[in-house]
Amino acid sequence: MSDSPYAAGLTVLAGPTAVGKGTVSTFIRDNFPQVWLSVSATTRPPRPGEIEGVHYFFKSPEEFDRLIADGAFLEWAVVHGRNRYGTLRSTVDAAVSAGKSVLLEIDLQGARQVKAAVPEARFVFLAPPSWDELVRRLIGRGTETAEEQQRRLETAKIELAAEAEFDHTIINDSVHRAAEELVSLMGVSGTSVSENT
Ligand code: 5GP
Repeated sequence: MSDSPYAAGLTVLAGPTAVGKGTVSTFIRDNFPQVWLSVSATTRPPRPGEIEGVHYFFKSPEEFDRLIADGAFLEWAVVHGRNRYGTLRSTVDAAVSAGKSVLLEIDLQGARQVKAAVPEARFVFLAPPSWDELVRRLIGRGTETAEEQQRRLETAKIELAAEAEFDHTIINDSVHRAAEELVSLMGVSGTSVSENT
């Protein structure tokens, strides 16, 4: 698939739970309009402040089933054993074909599916500065129950071991710095619109 338009235009960002993938991609969405951040579909209900079509396309389980049956997903996965998340093939295809620099922020299972379908895409692993820091971030977030935290830590251990499957590793020691490094890897010119973060 070396003639695929995906080769130059598609970057996948994955990494262990609580490493800050969402924060880095939000920073990129807010500061680097040159990057086209894919909006996933999910069966998870919206959190306060989340907007349909901006943060996710919120779907019922039945709607998600239909999208799977229609082959609408480039990849999809059950994340943290609960909700389903998927990347819509049509929107990514359109953006890549239009020459945009497309970023997918997805979980490891999804990244592996994209690697199988589009091996020439760029695969970037976001790593924590250390295991202790990852634990601190997971506990510090305070949004999950103790049982859920334990489950996510177990998942994170397995996810950390996947680093070698990726083309590049970025250490998330600072959101701004990690975002700059990612954008630079993507070959997107220009600097962030905000320099005060
Ligand atoms: P949250 O529910 O906190 O927004 O996201 C939970 C997890 O779902 C994150 O690890 C994120 O990377 C992952 N995720 C978001 N969108 C997708 C997607 O389209 N596909 C896959 N495989 N994972 C996703």
